[in-house]
Amino acid sequence: MKALLIIDMLRDFIDKDGALTIGVAGDKIIKFIKEKTEEFREKGYPIIYICDNHEKDDKEFDMFLPHCIAGMEGSEVIKDLEVKDEDKLIKKRRYSAFFGTDLDLYLREKKVEELYLVGVCTNICVLYTAADARNLAYKVNIYEDGVASFDEEAHNFALREAKNTLGCNIT
Ligand SMILES: [Zn+2]
Repeated sequence: MKALLIIDMLRDFIDKDGALTIGVAGDKIIKFIKEKTEEFREKGYPIIYICDNHEKDDKEFDMFLPHCIAGMEGSEVIKDLEVKDEDKLIKKRRYSAFFGTDLDLYLREKKVEELYLVGVCTNICVLYTAADARNLAYKVNIYEDGVASFDEEAHNFALREAKNTLGCNIT
């Protein structure tokens, strides 16, 4: 079984006026993600939205401006993507979608062995989610046209690292 992980396509990261917007790089991947979502949905594969969701005084804000605070608009999935009742939503407080969440349990219950990753940021939440997925022995694919970052150099580094060190398939 395969699953699509849509990472942090949230208003604070993608909307122009989001608290931690990555700007035009984020806009460019929306269409691709919509297409992939439809493709996976048609095949009956799980669609999983991975959502940054912080406490007001989260430790992460020592490094980044406050963003994706629980209950605030900025923490919502962008309007362009439609979350359906059958989709799974995983709230996380750290970069990896596996850290402190029930993602691994959910995937195992659904007999998922192969993950397809899209979303932002390539070098942060996508990369660290890919790393944990590989540590847990999932097959990991990253759609190059479906991931983005505010930092293009870091984006390219992350894709190389995912391929050469983590053994992900970049497609
Ligand atoms: Zn965060």
